[in-house]
Amino acid sequence: MVATSLPFVETQSPAHICPYDQACNYLEWAAKELKLDAGIVEILSHPRKVVTVSIPIKMDNGEVRVFAGHRVQHSDILGPYKGGIRYHPAVTLREVSALAMLMTWKCALLGIPYGGGKGGIPIDPKKFSVGELERISRRYISELIKDIGPSVDIPAPDMGTSAREMAWMMDTYSVNVGHSVPGVVTGKPLSIGGSLGREMATGRGVMIIVRESLKDHGISLTGVRIAIQGFGNVGGAAAELLHQAGAKIIAVSSGAGGIFAEDGLDISAVKAYAAQNRRSVVGFPTAKAISNADLLTLPCDVLIPAALENQITEENVHEIKAQFIAEAANGPVTLEANQVLEARGVTVLPDILANAGGVVVSYLEWVQGLSYLFWDEERVNKEMEYLMVQAYHKVMEEAKTRRVNLRLAAYTLGVGRVAQALTDRGLYP
Ligand code: GLU
Repeated sequence: MVATSLPFVETQSPAHICPYDQACNYLEWAAKELKLDAGIVEILSHPRKVVTVSIPIKMDNGEVRVFAGHRVQHSDILGPYKGGIRYHPAVTLREVSALAMLMTWKCALLGIPYGGGKGGIPIDPKKFSVGELERISRRYISELIKDIGPSVDIPAPDMGTSAREMAWMMDTYSVNVGHSVPGVVTGKPLSIGGSLGREMATGRGVMIIVRESLKDHGISLTGVRIAIQGFGNVGGAAAELLHQAGAKIIAVSSGAGGIFAEDGLDISAVKAYAAQNRRSVVGFPTAKAISNADLLTLPCDVLIPAALENQITEENVHEIKAQFIAEAANGPVTLEANQVLEARGVTVLPDILANAGGVVVSYLEWVQGLSYLFWDEERVNKEMEYLMVQAYHKVMEEAKTRRVNLRLAAYTLGVGRVAQALTDRGLYP
């Protein structure tokens, strides 16, 4: 018996909500509001290029296994494709395609000169040795050598990947083309042209957007009760920065479950614990164990889903008690749930705004690299804060003028800019 499954063929989406259909629904929603030409919507509903490669790897035990690696390039109308590479067992081509489209709107909304792309390999990185992960990352990128490049498509970390994978990818690309090309990826280690502040950037962006929104409602961060689903690159950094800013983080979670403390968690202690516990917060002493689902329905002021998509759906939306939701993950609130929350007066800070801090600092890293001039962390954070706050105010203004919710406002801004560029550039031939 050879292959038991064909990694490239997906007859059906494993989740009951197809992420790509959902992404297209958002696009159509914005297009209707913008009264966009049907041809423009048709173009934007399709990724420009979809690549799936085969990644044959020799495992540590000598066995050969083949993984599927995807890279979807949604649009490069505004600049090179930009977006992370995700290593997670739930990765599918549809999910990666949806996330690539989200990146297009996110970059356009933030006013950074990029298009949108995304990559992914359906693996659980915790189940592989460092050597195996290195071989997977290197072979994946070498299969994509003709499709990426500093002015073509610039990958970055996402769920399950970090600076370490970016270094392997940058090295593989560079060795293949015959010279060092640091600008081919962002989120690199500092030693090879990474930027200060990149690691905490997405979490910092979440903190900034939450702070601005609370400020608009006359609330300061001090003592605000926050629950965060996820304690990885994004959730962990957001927890730390919000805690430092005076908020009370009452719950956090990782894949296997969460922890809750009525009076607030000591985030540095949780961080130290997770570092010793394979990045899991489960079992942290002095806190109560809760499930990931329980975390979402806790009584709190701000809820930050910072893990996977489709966490707040029609099924649990009626149990959500937070008055503010910041989408640190991509697509954690479904469109239907968003409407219910809106009717209840809950402020939902949409993903393409709330989690844009990462790609903004990726952009700043790329700019520093291209200009051979590196900034101190203070400057990086300041430039990033400026772009985030400016985008936040634009979204608020758009929501007010159009009398729409924040998600639709963020989409009309993002989609509108891409549609305008597409109209100005015209259709070839
Ligand atoms: N993976 C992050 C995102 O989804 C960052 C992407 C990037 O820096 O290119 O926004």
